[in-house]
Amino acid sequence: MAYSRYVDVVLPLALPGLLTYGVPDSLVSAIQFGVRVEVPFRKNKRYSALVVGIHDRKPDGYKVKPVIGLLDRAPVLYPEHFRFWQWLSSYYFASLGEVMNAALPAHMKLDSETTLHLSPIFSDDFDHLSDEAFQLAEALRRQEHLTLEDVRKLLNKERVMPLVHKMLDEKIIYLHTELKERYRPKQVSYVRLTGRYRQNQDALNEVFDSLHAAPKQLALLLALMQEVHHDPEVRKADLLRRAAATSASLNALVKKGILEVYHKHESRLDTYTGDRVKVDPLTPAQQKAVQQIERLWPEKDVVLLHGVTGSGKTHIYADQIRKVIAQGGQVLYLLPEIALTGQIVSRLRKFFGEDVTVYHSRLNNNERVEVWKEVLAGKPVVLAARSGVFLPFRRLQLVIVDEAHDRSFKQFDPAPRYNGRDAALVLARIFGAKALLGTATPSMESLHNVETGKYGVVRLEERVGDSQLPDIEVVDLRKNRPAGGRALFSKILLDAIEETLTAGRQVILFQNRRGYAPSLNCTVCGWVSECSHCDVAMTFHKKARVMRCHYCGFAEEPRPACPACGNMPLKMLGFGTEQVEEELKVFFPEAKVGRMDYDTTGGKQGFSRIVHAFDAGEIQILVGTQMVTKGLDFDHVGLVGIMSADQLLAFPDFRSAERAFQQIIQVSGRAGRKKSRGKVLIQTYRPDHPVLKDVLRGDYDAFARRELAERKAFHYPPFTRLVQLTLVHRNATTVDTVAKLMHHRLVRQVSGEVLGPVVPAVARIRNRYHRTILLKLSRRKGILTQALDAIAAFVTSLKTQKGLSSVRVKVDVDVW
Ligand code: ADP
Ligand code: ZN
Ligand code: ZN
Repeated sequence: MAYSRYVDVVLPLALPGLLTYGVPDSLVSAIQFGVRVEVPFRKNKRYSALVVGIHDRKPDGYKVKPVIGLLDRAPVLYPEHFRFWQWLSSYYFASLGEVMNAALPAHMKLDSETTLHLSPIFSDDFDHLSDEAFQLAEALRRQEHLTLEDVRKLLNKERVMPLVHKMLDEKIIYLHTELKERYRPKQVSYVRLTGRYRQNQDALNEVFDSLHAAPKQLALLLALMQEVHHDPEVRKADLLRRAAATSASLNALVKKGILEVYHKHESRLDTYTGDRVKVDPLTPAQQKAVQQIERLWPEKDVVLLHGVTGSGKTHIYADQIRKVIAQGGQVLYLLPEIALTGQIVSRLRKFFGEDVTVYHSRLNNNERVEVWKEVLAGKPVVLAARSGVFLPFRRLQLVIVDEAHDRSFKQFDPAPRYNGRDAALVLARIFGAKALLGTATPSMESLHNVETGKYGVVRLEERVGDSQLPDIEVVDLRKNRPAGGRALFSKILLDAIEETLTAGRQVILFQNRRGYAPSLNCTVCGWVSECSHCDVAMTFHKKARVMRCHYCGFAEEPRPACPACGNMPLKMLGFGTEQVEEELKVFFPEAKVGRMDYDTTGGKQGFSRIVHAFDAGEIQILVGTQMVTKGLDFDHVGLVGIMSADQLLAFPDFRSAERAFQQIIQVSGRAGRKKSRGKVLIQTYRPDHPVLKDVLRGDYDAFARRELAERKAFHYPPFTRLVQLTLVHRNATTVDTVAKLMHHRLVRQVSGEVLGPVVPAVARIRNRYHRTILLKLSRRKGILTQALDAIAAFVTSLKTQKGLSSVRVKVDVDVW
């Protein structure tokens, strides 16, 4: 059969390319780009698919199926965003379905739900039916359809499938799989006087008189009158609570026609109700920076705002945001996930009130749909984690990426493995919007882009007010051996903590490992506490009394003795935040110590609770992982201690120097904001490490110059592009075979270095074996596409090879 119109659609599945369906005549006039439609796919399954093409070319070679129904009256996606999806899909080697999955909130991808219907050919001959079958058929005659859940309730039992199957066989009923929108607007019930009494005081007085025999109803009515005084809209739940009344009393008043209950849809999102404050006047240095930025805009689409910690970058963003709002535009403000629970949200809400909305992974599915709708309706400012790039902006004029160096902008799994910062810049280009990348420690990529003239740059070298950058010192642990207890603290650090606490100021201690000790070892036979599912040591968590694998989450009881040779006790190697916290209690038994890491910040409020406690002075010493480095602004921090710089510097990765430099500078930046100058102490056994020398001099430029020269010499980004391929399989031999085959093939087809295959440091995770191949590609046009095409061809050929087809190949472009 031929249709007059066809649609190309994306399904939320990892399928290559688009699928084409026919449009029944009844739907032709309503179909448009960006609406969702219901389509059949594989074995009678149904999906919601997104229309991204409309045409009249009948596809050849297969029988075209029809669109079943239309799910939206207005588009949920516009062509600009689809172009963005296409870019993500091709650059990051992900299918459009995978992009769709990442982009749309779960509740906009519909669920199939099966319903039962009475068969039209059933002759109404109820006589021979069993009691239960009769009940069901009767119910279906009265209402069009029932879900299985309805049937369970109707028959008041769990096991209903045997009956359903029997009735299906007898063709009494049939099944229909329907797509169901899971998003539900939140309904709130309100109470008010009925119209008769709202206008008529005399009538109301009579009511009061009539109620003297019903004191509970009277109390409820009085409570309502009081509430109405403050706010004419009175929530039912609030009223019942206030009046200590039951629904029974309320229902009685409703029956008497005195009160009525009405419903309204309400947003689930936090709204800011406080007063707005004006953005503080900018300091002269900030004003100058703004002028420079605005002078650069006509020539550069991206400006790097390289400002030291505490220079007030947020105020500069606020100034730019204000201007965009005035023009009716929209702003996307990206932040690392964790910073979104911090202070920045409340700071910007203070300036911009309800113009600000927030999007991050701790929102539930309903809340996400609500933000989506707000943005579609033109919400001016969106503060978001990396997934904010998918929101349906209409008038995007400015993209801000704060802490632009942060590696958490990169998505690891699942595909698309995109970098939120880079994706946001592409999105900005599609909309013709400007972009501002702010950081105290720019990535080498951003710097390189400045040097090649792609980005403009504006520098802010001074802190706001009379706050000075902290005084940074290295503590040479070879000369100042830590002693006492577990020997984590040098005397210099202990004295400095003492001094700071005495002066009534606060301390932050940074150790980028959580738990008590990263491993337990046997000093006799060399046994290590490894995870039984992964090739990695398990971390000892003392408080929870558990050994935990930080890769797969597997946990077991700590062993008292070596399971191999019986030697005891086992030796702890290294230390984590939990041990630092415990050790502090030995030296400072009186001090109030808090800990901020993955283990203490669980739950929706975990992180902000600790931030508030520290802000309010309820915590004097805060011990934490890199979480303490991210964009926090405290007034009374006198000292920052870095427990082990060596551990930061020793990371086996070409970015380790850059990352260590950034982390040290960022955590140091928490010290001495406002008034008196702060101090930073860095404990290390390698005080001569060049990175530490640059940190000491606060010389970002020297660091960057040396680092860039090294990257250039060894062909690393930003001078090349890295693509990491990870092959994963249950069987080590199989994954080895495929890795070798793939390497062999790519060496011939890719112009660039093809390194590997290697057995990675953690070679087995969740009992699956990993091998990696690294491509170092030139950044010239076309080279990446050529490499990805070769990868795609290999992956496709793998599908047809017996025994090898189940090896998974993960592709990570611009691995971070
Ligand atoms: P950065 O992000 O550059 O590290 P922040 O934006 O956190 O710096 O600013 C540091 C502190 O200075 C904050 O407490 C901020 O409120 C304050 N501040 C920044 N600019 C101004 C200004 N123009 N007037 C008053 N206070 C400011
Ligand atoms: Zn042993
Ligand atoms: Zn594990």
